[in-house]
Amino acid sequence: MGTITSLPRELIIEGGTLYDPLTGKSRQGSLAVKSGKLAAPEDIRPDKAATIDAKDCLVTHGFIDIHAHFREPGREDKETLATGSRAALAGGFTRVCVMPNTNPPLDGPEGIRFIVERSEDLPVDIYPIGAITKGQYGKELAELLEMHAAGAVAFSDDGEPLQDGQVLRWALYYTRDLGVPIINHAEDAFLRGEGVMNESALSTRLGLPGSPVQAEASMIYRDLLLAEEAEGRIHIPHVSSELGTELVRQFKARGVRVTAEATPHHLGLTEEMISDFDTHAKVAPPLRTEADRQAVIAGLVDGTIDCISTDHAPHTVEEKEQDIIRAPFGMIGLETAFGMAHTVLRKAGLRSTQVIDLFTTGAAGVMGMELTPMEPGQNAELVILNPKEEWTFTREDIYSRSRNTPMLGMSFTGRIRATIGRNRLFSNI
Ligand SMILES: [Zn+2]
Repeated sequence: MGTITSLPRELIIEGGTLYDPLTGKSRQGSLAVKSGKLAAPEDIRPDKAATIDAKDCLVTHGFIDIHAHFREPGREDKETLATGSRAALAGGFTRVCVMPNTNPPLDGPEGIRFIVERSEDLPVDIYPIGAITKGQYGKELAELLEMHAAGAVAFSDDGEPLQDGQVLRWALYYTRDLGVPIINHAEDAFLRGEGVMNESALSTRLGLPGSPVQAEASMIYRDLLLAEEAEGRIHIPHVSSELGTELVRQFKARGVRVTAEATPHHLGLTEEMISDFDTHAKVAPPLRTEADRQAVIAGLVDGTIDCISTDHAPHTVEEKEQDIIRAPFGMIGLETAFGMAHTVLRKAGLRSTQVIDLFTTGAAGVMGMELTPMEPGQNAELVILNPKEEWTFTREDIYSRSRNTPMLGMSFTGRIRATIGRNRLFSNI
């Protein structure tokens, strides 16, 4: 089990391979950290400095999660900005974009400022995403420009799909020149209906209402058409299907300003997970077939999908103990994101550094963020991971306030060994 402590004033990370995703270059060497900034080795007093042995490890830029639900304000019993940040740090993340479907939703500049102020002393940088519509009711546009000025990095009604195409169209027009993406949870509410899993032979056999891939694909298609017309920036979250991936591929080729993300659970799990009615495997969009899973992987490998995001969605034990029909959608994902994605994508032929790119440059590109150069004088924003280490995920590895995940007991290759965030060190060495 790891620990989260304040960052030692002087620290040497030695024996690892340094990989800077900004330059794409790797080299053997050590890194020195002094007062939270990268330092020249001669500025460190070896007798006073703490040491991290990074033998067999890659030392690289901290990860960026562009899609997480931290539940504050409103459902602090599930997660807070503080507990979510600990889970993020343990997962190798140093920056997290939080979705606005809190209670109340982040649908105005006050909500955005609340998150920014509450996050000042946290170990990871929090970037709020503003709601597209007032109250996230899907009817009336929220104050997008004011939220952007207050610090919103994107807009989304995530949690709820935006059904009204005209509202989405106006959002794309209004934000066209800001350079920030509109993110719409792509599931047609009518096609999804009461679906609790993928609609397939398996859902028929289990007697459970299903949500067809067309629920996702038809809405992705609509959103892409509208983005093309408005010349706005659309970001497709959690692509789960072969059809959805193919649509993104086609519209990217047409020059539409589209980016997309995939989650570790859609990369690593299929609808079979729900065979025993495990509510922890109930997510939206749902886990799908093996063919869909392979298509999403292929989309990441060929660059159709830009990055990996967690869609970390904490829920209480009581909520997830309800039956499969009533239990809420979602699973936590920060602590397992790298292990799962790395395991799957290595098998698909990517190098470890390419997987790191999906968590760093890929995610930063979607949100228009700059990475921190790995050079003396810059903030130390680092993750130290062992790409070869096999490990089994247990409850001890959970830092989130919630523990709704179907991945307990699963084994992964690639483990986070330490993360250096803002003045905090996660260490599992
Ligand atoms: Zn969503």
